[in-house]
Amino acid sequence: MKIDILHAGYCTSPEHLAIQGGRWRAIHFPAMFALFRHPQYGAMLFDTGYSYRFFDETKKFPKRFYRWMTPVHLKEEDLVVNQLATFNLRPEDISHVFISHFHADHVGSLCDLPKSRYVYLPHAYSHLRHLSPEEDMKHAFLRGQIPSDIDARSQEVDLSRSILLSEEYAPFKTGYDLLGDGSIIGVELPGHAHGQMGIFARNDDDKVFFFVADAAWLKRSIVENRPPHKIANLLFPDPIAYRETLGKLQTYTLTHPDTIVVPSHCDETISQFSVSGHK
Ligand SMILES: [Zn+2]
Repeated sequence: MKIDILHAGYCTSPEHLAIQGGRWRAIHFPAMFALFRHPQYGAMLFDTGYSYRFFDETKKFPKRFYRWMTPVHLKEEDLVVNQLATFNLRPEDISHVFISHFHADHVGSLCDLPKSRYVYLPHAYSHLRHLSPEEDMKHAFLRGQIPSDIDARSQEVDLSRSILLSEEYAPFKTGYDLLGDGSIIGVELPGHAHGQMGIFARNDDDKVFFFVADAAWLKRSIVENRPPHKIANLLFPDPIAYRETLGKLQTYTLTHPDTIVVPSHCDETISQFSVSGHK
């Protein structure tokens, strides 16, 4: 399998929000997505970053606050569909999208991919289904970004079919074999959002990638086990679980120095591993 780390747009926010003791200056939070080219399943994505729908959906109050909180920068060439074209891929070529969670900066392009199956943990979406518009905001959820046929196209992860992971994934003990061939292993990373899922994947060069979504915003946060500013706890459904997950990520990262651990918004990590020309 070939794995490419890309991003579709970025927002800015003060560093001290992302990590305790961080500086006051604004930093870039790229909206990462990954492209997997699998010998059998073809092209697949992990998340989809921003799209112009973010701006359409946040024109009016109260959702306009979302723009103020996280000013978004997005150019034509950043759009997922345009980046796919640089790999000679059409939107309909994407067979699966593995969705870490449904925050607006992860699902912006779902509507642009007409043939994909959506793979996610059931509780990542079930609690969002019937929220009121005011509650949508609290969950960073922009309903207009969700395709109207999501139910028909969803392939929710079957929680009753978890697998025991080998020692090489420690301290992560259970996961989900998302394609049934061991190539993409999903693990739940609780705390940041309901049903958040991270993914382990191995490329042709035997490099292991661990996409950890928003379980940490910065790689440094994992390495130092240093959480975001306390105010971020207001955004998390389960701050205690968030800390536990961060601790496990630190243990994993320190004991697996060869794995490429990718937090979705860590500019340093994403710049380091992005394909040149796709920055
Ligand atoms: Zn998030």
